[in-house]
Amino acid sequence: MLKTDILIIGSGISGLFFAMKTAKKRPDLSIVIMTKETAKNTNTRLAQGGIAVVTNLFKDSFEQHIKDTLQAGDGHCDETIVKMVIEQAPERLKELIEIGASFDKDEDGQWNLGLEGGHSQNRILHHKDSSGLEIEEKLLKIIKKMPNIEIWENHQVIDLNTETKKGKTTCTGAFYYDKKHNKIKYIRTRTTLLCTGGCGQLFENTTNPKIATGDGIAMAARAGVEIEDMQYIQFHPTALSAGKDNPLFLISEAVRGFGAYIVNEDQKRFLFKYDLRGELATRDIISEAISNEIKYQSKKHVYLDCRHLDQKAFYAHFPVITAHCNSLGIKPERDLIPIVPAAHYQCGGIKVDPNGKTSIENLYAIGECARTGLHGKNRLASNSLLEALVFAHQASEDVNKTIAKFTFSTKLLIPKFPKAHQSNDYYAFDILKKELQTLLTTFYTSSERDAELAFAKIKMLNNSAISLIETHEITIPFIEFSNMLATALLIIKQCKTKEKQTC
Ligand SMILES: Cc1cc2nc3c(=O)[nH]c(=O)nc-3n(C[C@H](O)[C@H](O)[C@H](O)COP(=O)(O)OP(=O)(O)OC[C@H]3O[C@@H](n4cnc5c(N)ncnc54)[C@H](O)[C@@H]3O)c2cc1C
Repeated sequence: MLKTDILIIGSGISGLFFAMKTAKKRPDLSIVIMTKETAKNTNTRLAQGGIAVVTNLFKDSFEQHIKDTLQAGDGHCDETIVKMVIEQAPERLKELIEIGASFDKDEDGQWNLGLEGGHSQNRILHHKDSSGLEIEEKLLKIIKKMPNIEIWENHQVIDLNTETKKGKTTCTGAFYYDKKHNKIKYIRTRTTLLCTGGCGQLFENTTNPKIATGDGIAMAARAGVEIEDMQYIQFHPTALSAGKDNPLFLISEAVRGFGAYIVNEDQKRFLFKYDLRGELATRDIISEAISNEIKYQSKKHVYLDCRHLDQKAFYAHFPVITAHCNSLGIKPERDLIPIVPAAHYQCGGIKVDPNGKTSIENLYAIGECARTGLHGKNRLASNSLLEALVFAHQASEDVNKTIAKFTFSTKLLIPKFPKAHQSNDYYAFDILKKELQTLLTTFYTSSERDAELAFAKIKMLNNSAISLIETHEITIPFIEFSNMLATALLIIKQCKTKEKQTC
């Protein structure tokens, strides 16, 4: 039966950075990274704006970054964690630079630091507008050369296995679907990490790719791990509203930091009615203001206005965004860019301690799937790549110290469903997914959230899903949809009906 010392589920920044650091320290340990599609298909790859780090101690300070993070989190952050993450940032950045990740500099050789909503200083390091891609590619390049790491693409983890002895629960392995061989298999592990990203695909409009279906949250919840703050889903105010794309293309917050305005149908700026910082207020405030304006004007979107900006500098700083707009016939120097708020980031998730450890001792969660206490109600822009790096470091140090305690379980487990049905039901599940997205979006954005009605509808969707697989054994769309339903239920349960709306 297959086994690996460490199983990492997910190939985004959190999983890759953890793997790299741990493999360097411990060449004696075998590490498998499983990812449900190709290694490159992640949220990480899409990150545009960059990574928030205090680098200029003349103008900026850790205290200011801490204050900005706490203010964005609206009283719900864990201050100790905020301090830990922000003070560690320069060391983690140094490690990225050491592996060749490059960030833009000015002509005088100083960092070209971007400004984003909620930040009191320019402190965002970026690689033009494709910062995530730059980091992910450099990590993958180095990892592929490390002999004790294997990346298993197209391997979808279905569930964790746990054993409880003398009141202590440990994670002993995972069931997964090997897409190439159409087989469900089991792997034994000594330590397991969930690095599965967020759940934006549960909503109608999202910037998250199709992989973001909340699998890690659902698996952890089924294993009895505590999940917290799922009611805090961050909506990004400026997703491009063109057609029915899924995901919607993001227009980075850095564009507003560069000086772009948000205007309504009458081409008037309206954000100062909501916050004195205008376009540089935090995402929750701007998303809510835009949603109000859209309702008030009975329109489908508002606009980003970039026409007054230095176009040469704008095109140079944002080559991916400008090329995408141009491909749709939108010229930022001439046209207004239609935008809507879209589900972007899951602030809550699997509850972890400062080392990324869940309530199960040898099970860790890092990256977007984890609830660390950094973000509170609303993540400060460009703090999530940073959080992933810091918690990957913390977890790596902890695993190095604790893994000796954990041996492989001797139980031989045979998957309940040895074969997955090669299904033709993707289309049917796509319809159910759309229903779920409408349901959750309506619930989440309503000022009168009706949790009972939402529960009843989720139950109906669950019944429909079961009826689709009645004649087969099990199908992958069914597994993924079940995870989406389980995550949606957690969001609904953890939403307090009178909570202030964020979109
Ligand atoms: C468009 C966009 C722009 C962003 N811009 C920024 C930015 O500028 N700065 C910033 O700080 N943050 C930004 N973010 C947020 C940030 O990119 C993410 O929070 C971060 O990359 C998450 O990294 P991760 O390692 O947690 O997971 P991800 O990068 O999302 O990777 C998740 C991995 O888990 C795998 N997976 C999931 N379920 C399973 C399963 N069942 N079995 C096997 N594998 C599974 C996926 O295949 C994938 O490999 C942005 C996000 C988006 C969507």
